[in-house]
Amino acid sequence: MSAPDALRVERGTRTGQPVIISLHSTGAGPALGGCRVKPYASWRDGLDDALRLSAAMTDKAALAGLPYGGGKTVVALSPGTAAHYAGTRRGDLLADVGEVVDSLGGRYITGPDVGTCPDDMAVIAQRTRHVLCRPHNAGGSGDSSAPTAAGTLACIDAVRMRFFDGRPASGLTFAIQGLGHVGILIADSLASQGATLVVADTDPGRRRLAGRWHARIADPALLLASDADILVPAGLGGILTPQTVPALRCRAIVGPANNQLADESVADLLHARGITWAPDPVVSAGGIVASVAREVDHLPELEVHRLIAAIGDRLGALLDEAAKNGQPPLTVARQRVRERLAQTRSA
Ligand code: NAD
Repeated sequence: MSAPDALRVERGTRTGQPVIISLHSTGAGPALGGCRVKPYASWRDGLDDALRLSAAMTDKAALAGLPYGGGKTVVALSPGTAAHYAGTRRGDLLADVGEVVDSLGGRYITGPDVGTCPDDMAVIAQRTRHVLCRPHNAGGSGDSSAPTAAGTLACIDAVRMRFFDGRPASGLTFAIQGLGHVGILIADSLASQGATLVVADTDPGRRRLAGRWHARIADPALLLASDADILVPAGLGGILTPQTVPALRCRAIVGPANNQLADESVADLLHARGITWAPDPVVSAGGIVASVAREVDHLPELEVHRLIAAIGDRLGALLDEAAKNGQPPLTVARQRVRERLAQTRSA
């Protein structure tokens, strides 16, 4: 992981909590990336997360062809203070974030991430205009789950056409890990197309949703090894490891979960097993593509939908190149990011 273009670490003036903003890359344009608020044992762990997550945002923006770089805010809450900042002092915390974001003068644009939501963005927007995904009634494009799900579904179509002879979803079995904001929308769409679903969620309340899709419920610990054509990771990252890959029984993996590979060597293991892995920075780009298109570029809805559908075409082209070269898709994705960053440096 390369060093960030710029790094800001400040104590919030109201709360004293560390607000860390990593601008991993700004050559292509302002750095885009959400604001994560969670407890860390030490602020240095939060710093590590900010560096890693902002680099992943560089990949996502570059692979989506967006004229933006990658960034991230991490508010590294001191242990034991999470309830405090979910309650009465949340406004102060978000005001602290807004001030630091604003001090970067538009080189960084924030949005929701783990631990923040569109309502929080409306509070941050009282201090800075460099924020996306406020609720609709506050002038923003709202929750990004729907475009993220739509981008993922476009990628599933691209994989069906290439690796399943264009068989319709009704002829395939999908294993969906995680029935949260995005996973539910993907399951709804696939079920409406007649697909067979196997689903898992660590939250028992979520598992009860399976009935609405006539889906089989799998034990969360066993979902990855389900007998399915396509695995759809829509829970947490880091699920594909040297330990889990040998047990996989799917032929392709296409899902929105960020950072699915425990490390990059896992891409080689998947390739060696003949399992097509669609790189998650490509698959999960629908949210940022749509929020930029709606809130910054003010494009008509028809054009926004065209841009989301194009995520499937981008993935298809990347998979075609990987197949032609006999390489794992991640190798092609890495190459594309390098080319893109070199172009923006020389521009
Ligand atoms: P969410 O928090 O609403 O849902 C995640 C779900 O996964 C929860 O129901 C949780 O209980 C479940 N889960 C967690 N660990 C699990 C496990 N081991 N097995 C089974 N279920 C598990 O999150 P979301 O907004 O739906 O996002 C899903 C994934 O997509 C995340 O990795 C997120 O970072 C990524 N993503 C989301 C967006 C977006 O717009 N929401 C955009 C890009 C990427």
